[in-house]
Amino acid sequence: MDIHTNIPLKNYLTMKIGGNARFMTEVHSREELAAVCENAKSKNIPIFIIGGGSNVIARDEGYEGLVIRIRIPGFEIISEDDSSTTIRIGAGENWDSVVKRSVDMKLSGIEAMSGIPGTAGATPIQNVGAYGQEIADTLQSLEAYDLETKSFVTMQNSECGFSYRDSIFRSSSAGRYIITSITIVLSKYMPKPPFYDSLQRYLDEKQIKIFTPDIIRNTVLEIRKDKLPDPAVQPSAGSFFKNAIVDKWQAEQLKPSYPDMPMFEMADGRFKIPTGWLIEKTGLKGQLINGMRISPNNALVLINESAHSYDELAKARDEITIKIRDMFRIQIEQEPLEM
Ligand code: NAP
Repeated sequence: MDIHTNIPLKNYLTMKIGGNARFMTEVHSREELAAVCENAKSKNIPIFIIGGGSNVIARDEGYEGLVIRIRIPGFEIISEDDSSTTIRIGAGENWDSVVKRSVDMKLSGIEAMSGIPGTAGATPIQNVGAYGQEIADTLQSLEAYDLETKSFVTMQNSECGFSYRDSIFRSSSAGRYIITSITIVLSKYMPKPPFYDSLQRYLDEKQIKIFTPDIIRNTVLEIRKDKLPDPAVQPSAGSFFKNAIVDKWQAEQLKPSYPDMPMFEMADGRFKIPTGWLIEKTGLKGQLINGMRISPNNALVLINESAHSYDELAKARDEITIKIRDMFRIQIEQEPLEM
């Protein structure tokens, strides 16, 4: 396997910003991964993993370590019964190709997560979800390389600490595990309504009454086309901010001043407030700040129109964050991981 030096990260990240990685390599198998990690560890070289580079941003000074691009392939049916099919997927597989393949097999469970950029192995990290489905709903287990014990481990769904757009892989165990495969259980039954609000509305408008995985996938792709920029055409990192989560007390304080503020009660009693709505209320939607455009179609997305540096991006991010803090007393957080 080749190890390259001084590689511009911006060529590998969909935001198209960032300095050089001191070292970079691609791994195509679990064995290659274990070997390269042990070698780096023995030399005290820090490791950072990227998949599709769609949810990571890099600083202008780059990364003084080894960036590993996970390219481990695989799509293997490991069991099947009358109602479900269990599939093991290599972490390096393109996620949307996996969704397409499962839909072509008439399987249901991930069809609403169509059109999401990135790799299959990245989906558990922030419990990727869209239009009412999240990877935690179908993931049975995953295999990962444990950098601490230098061994492969199998983790069941319950061990991954999944919650809303979060897991142990980006919180308590961040940087410890490298996911090499995921195993998901998909249903042979048709998707059932009611669907996620915006999806249901679209289906109603088009008078679609038969729901197959294929129809749901195509509908989601249609909705996403207008709301989310294609990173290959307009550099971005998808949603740049997480939705705001506030406790009941804060939600009650906000409601009288903003009666139209959308609030969704979560299982733990806290409330989710769409950050896109907050940004829109500040008047920043569609604005250009330091070369970063706040998408006119979806305020959660920052499009890199003409920014060349992390500094420009950070200034735009901070301006939005401060405006929201001053207006609502809510501290919003960046979603992409930072190298
Ligand atoms: P949207 O439909 O305009 O809704 C805005 C926000 O309100 C979403 O974050 C959504 O939460 C929340 N929401 C809407 N209806 C809800 C309900 N009935 N109960 C609870 N929460 C509700 O969202 P959008 O910005 O166009 O995005 C569409 C979908 O793609 C969303 O599910 C979003 O999460 C997903 N998406 C995910 C990522 C990611 O994983 N990084 C990136 C881009 C978009 P939810 O987020 O819980 O759906």
